[in-house]
Amino acid sequence: MKKSLLLLIFTFCFAIINHAHGERIVKVGAFNYYPGIFKDTDGEVKGFFVDALNELGQNENIKFIYVYGSWEQGLERIKTGEIDMLTSVAYTKERAVFMDYAQTPLLTVWGEVYVEPKSEIKGIKDLNGKTIAVMKSDFNGEFLRQLTTKLSINCNYIETNDFDEVFQLILTEKVDAGVVNNTYGAPKSQEYSLLSSGIVFNPFDIFFTVKKGENAWLLKLLNMYLETWVHDRNSVYNVSRQKWSHGKVGKMEVFPEWLQNGIYAVVVFVLLLMAFIGLLRYRVRKATAKLKYSETLFETFMDNTPAFVYIKDEALNHIYRNKMLNNIVNNHLINNISSAKTIFEPETAETIEQTDRVILDLGKGSKNIQFQCNLNGETVWLHDYKFFIALPDGKPGIGGISIDMTRLKETELELIKAKEKAEESDRLKSAFLANMSHEIRTPMNGILGFASLLNKPGLTGDQQHEYIEIIRKSGARMLNIINDIVDISKIEAGLMNLELSESNVNEQLEYIYTFFKPEADAKGLMLQFNLALAAPKATILTDREKLFAVLTNLVKNAIKYTTKGLITFGYELKNNQKNQKELQFFVKDTGIGISPNRIDAIFERFVQADIEDKMARQGAGLGLSISKAYVDMMGGEIWVESEKGRGSVFGVLFYLPYRACKKRSLLLC
Ligand code: ADP
Repeated sequence: MKKSLLLLIFTFCFAIINHAHGERIVKVGAFNYYPGIFKDTDGEVKGFFVDALNELGQNENIKFIYVYGSWEQGLERIKTGEIDMLTSVAYTKERAVFMDYAQTPLLTVWGEVYVEPKSEIKGIKDLNGKTIAVMKSDFNGEFLRQLTTKLSINCNYIETNDFDEVFQLILTEKVDAGVVNNTYGAPKSQEYSLLSSGIVFNPFDIFFTVKKGENAWLLKLLNMYLETWVHDRNSVYNVSRQKWSHGKVGKMEVFPEWLQNGIYAVVVFVLLLMAFIGLLRYRVRKATAKLKYSETLFETFMDNTPAFVYIKDEALNHIYRNKMLNNIVNNHLINNISSAKTIFEPETAETIEQTDRVILDLGKGSKNIQFQCNLNGETVWLHDYKFFIALPDGKPGIGGISIDMTRLKETELELIKAKEKAEESDRLKSAFLANMSHEIRTPMNGILGFASLLNKPGLTGDQQHEYIEIIRKSGARMLNIINDIVDISKIEAGLMNLELSESNVNEQLEYIYTFFKPEADAKGLMLQFNLALAAPKATILTDREKLFAVLTNLVKNAIKYTTKGLITFGYELKNNQKNQKELQFFVKDTGIGISPNRIDAIFERFVQADIEDKMARQGAGLGLSISKAYVDMMGGEIWVESEKGRGSVFGVLFYLPYRACKKRSLLLC
């Protein structure tokens, strides 16, 4: 602070003097001492000594003129007074004779031995027998000469005009090594691609000098400026030294401290900004990964859901479809828009959309619908659960899940059928019990009632005969029922066998006619029978008893269920598809007939065509089921054609081909 103030006062005084005296000229000896002072390629003398002197010159109205030459020439010129001052001069007694030295040294420098990169010179002893380039009158070169002599190291020295020439000789391998001072060597070794050998020596100060006894004012001025320059980091001297030492050329740039601080602030700000951006990116990446995960999770769940899942907008078009629905929709897609209309038949689509509209109108709630439809050529039942949702844009929408319930529906239908059948069985059971109790009680009452009447004294012979006849008929009726029950039990237990023998069907039919004629007459019915074959040809191989039982049963039913008209029975000889002859029996009546829906049922056991008919024509509902079982056993077929109120035709066909017996016995066959 004190020094700066002094410099300011001094400068001020000199400015007044200079102003009075006008511009002063100072001739400076210049030589190649890069980066302190040197001649640039454009011929100009430059360097950090020059930059420093220029500032001084500007402040003090001094014009520095540079006289360029070798270092030795410079020393000669100051001696002769040809120049006023020199830069970078080491102190020696000899030189102090013809030069005055500034008090503050410019730099402390030292000598350094440089070599080319392949060189094996690593220490001072390696210099033995080597050729070394030194600058003429250079203090460093002089010192090395003395040192090697002292150490008995024999070297051959070649002198150059400047340091550049020293480096040129090393580079062209005309010498093994060269001596320059470190100030020059540090920046220039890079340019020449040379290396320091590591041999350094003789640190010494260098100074500004002026001609002895002259230019005392200049020396004072130099001392004053040097004092400030050397200690101020931002002085032109130090800044310029940095610049030239690091090989920068061109105009000197002085960086103000505020600018430096500003740059630091900007750098810190940019770093913070980058860290912030990095953090943001990390968070975005993390959030994106989280989003992607939940999206994948949702899609995986939806695509594996065994149901059609969808979301519809207000116009009832799908805005989301899961994979299962997509597979269906792709077959029906129109312009990439899908809806109930693009998938289902018009009627089904209308039902679905009506339900959707109801939910949309309500603005809340849910509905279930079930419908049958055609999907990819398959008829399926769908259960559709739909509900109101508010879409992300706030508009109303429909969410839905449809499940294929075809199997469930089928099971449901089977259950309904089974239930109906169970109910019917129940009714049948009740009807059967009522019927059976009637069937058994009626003859029993007859037997018991007339048996006690027989005990009455004074009965006439006719009366007794009549009562006994009633008891006999009732007994026969009971026996019939018991026989039927025994037969059906045997059939069910698989104990009924087929016993084939020769039988004459004409005789059987004639017998049946004779047997039922009185009963038919009693009811006022006409009874007829047709025989297709002459008696000798009518003997066939069959189960005589079972055929008789079947035909008897059919004729008995015909009389039972006919109140007036005609009953015809018989057989026909027919050719089947294989051109074989077959006997087809028939029993035809003009009775009450059977409703079409009961035709199959009447062949089941304990079933009567009209189960509500409690008037109970005699019968336990076993006759036809026994007949059917017998016909089946004989490999035949039994059927009925009937019309309610107009009579029935029962047909019986035996697939056993008709084969007439050779024996012509009328009785047996
Ligand atoms: P049932 O002993 O009750 O006659 P069936 O098994 O012989 O038992 O006959 C079953 C039912 O078939 C009868 O209850 C009757 O309703 C009906 N059915 C049988 N034959 C005839 C017929 N010729 N005309 C009208 N209905 C008949």
